[in-house]
Amino acid sequence: MRLSRYFLPLLKETPAGAEIVSHQLMLRAGLVRQTAAGIYAWLPLGYRVLERVAAIVRAEQDRVGALEMLMPTIQPADLWRESGRYDAYGPEMLRILDRHGRDLLYGPTNEEMVTAIFRDSVRSYRDLPRILYHIQWKFRDEVRPRFGVMRGREFLMKDAYSFDLDAAGARASYDLMFTAYLRTFAALGLKAVPVRAPTGPIGGDLSHEFHILASTGESELFYDSALDAIDPADPAAPERLRGLYAMEAEEHDRLGTCPVPPERLAVRRGIEVGHIFFFGTKYTKAMGMAVPGPDGTMVTPLCGSYGIGVSRLVGAIIEASHDQAGIIWPDPVAPFDVGLLNLRPDDPAVAAAADALEARLEGAGLSVLHDDRDLRAGEKFASMDLIGLPWQVAVGPKGVAAGTVELKRRASGERAELSPEAALAAIAG
Ligand code: ATP
Ligand code: MG
Repeated sequence: MRLSRYFLPLLKETPAGAEIVSHQLMLRAGLVRQTAAGIYAWLPLGYRVLERVAAIVRAEQDRVGALEMLMPTIQPADLWRESGRYDAYGPEMLRILDRHGRDLLYGPTNEEMVTAIFRDSVRSYRDLPRILYHIQWKFRDEVRPRFGVMRGREFLMKDAYSFDLDAAGARASYDLMFTAYLRTFAALGLKAVPVRAPTGPIGGDLSHEFHILASTGESELFYDSALDAIDPADPAAPERLRGLYAMEAEEHDRLGTCPVPPERLAVRRGIEVGHIFFFGTKYTKAMGMAVPGPDGTMVTPLCGSYGIGVSRLVGAIIEASHDQAGIIWPDPVAPFDVGLLNLRPDDPAVAAAADALEARLEGAGLSVLHDDRDLRAGEKFASMDLIGLPWQVAVGPKGVAAGTVELKRRASGERAELSPEAALAAIAG
């Protein structure tokens, strides 16, 4: 992809009103633009990241047998009257009246809808267990939308719903999702801490939140500092994370006892990127779902719901991975693998070498953003650092004469003069 034909509106100055670094960088690097309070348009570069995050989330859901579907954003209020949540939900729900005077709403979540769909088609215990999910936009009219996509009003969520015949099955579905979550965050290059959560007004008896440690997080966490030594890239990381003590401050204080000795206990802030709940028959009972069990008696299925903040994750990843110069994308979610810099677009030999290298990189299955713009080299390097692609390859007149390019790894800043072949081999790993 040639930058001269791309849509990448970069900002030199930090925009006013963007308080945290991820919000600042998302605006400066041309990833998103705000269109109304808490509502964002995803520009081409940002949308590629959002799609890659969603693809990783999807792959790990599919891997545990969850079934992808797509429910609408707009829901009839009557569904929510069945569960009793239409009045209970409060002003966070965006309520809409259609031309016929029927009450609709923009879904803040989908328990009611998925329960109604499943209820109307489930015939017997043989139809259980099932886990259904979708990746869909939600709307919550947050009192204080802030921090860019981290606390938006419209945001993209993966939400899954499990239906089981008995408590043991429901527990197994919960554990399956728990594992899928740890794998998802590891695949995104993130260390996410499972935190035992109070179940709150949604009810039920089992819930965990998943947090990314970052100073700008909205939650305060107490955790076993053994966590700090865990490398998210270690294949054993998910298993190690599972057993560690981590609690939100309020819950930690409330419990009063802590299995971790004080010298090993750490306090840091966290960003909630996922939340799973087991809530039993709350919705199936209220909405009249029952299936004939193996012995013919009617059984009310037990359910859980499992959310991941897909758009929030993009901000959280930047909070966890950036430096003074800009974003440092973890390889699995980078919008392009390589930033190719043509340092002298007006020099035909340099342009030919850059074009040839772009073709070879793409031939090797790598995605390339080729800066062929007529700008000073310094500005090009600064733009590449800002947008944070994992690899940079610079092609200039001296290198073309010597048969070399300059390769830079964004994360470490390490540079090397190499032949184009060697650069390709290093990137392709
Ligand atoms: P929070 O406490 O941050 O408001 P929540 O408990 O209301 O989150 P859930 O209803 O469990 O969130 O939603 C599942 C996931 O959706 C959350 O873990 C979070 O990652 C994401 N999410 C929730 N609200 C927002 C929002 N306003 N903007 C972006 N992502 C959100
Ligand atoms: Mg909320």
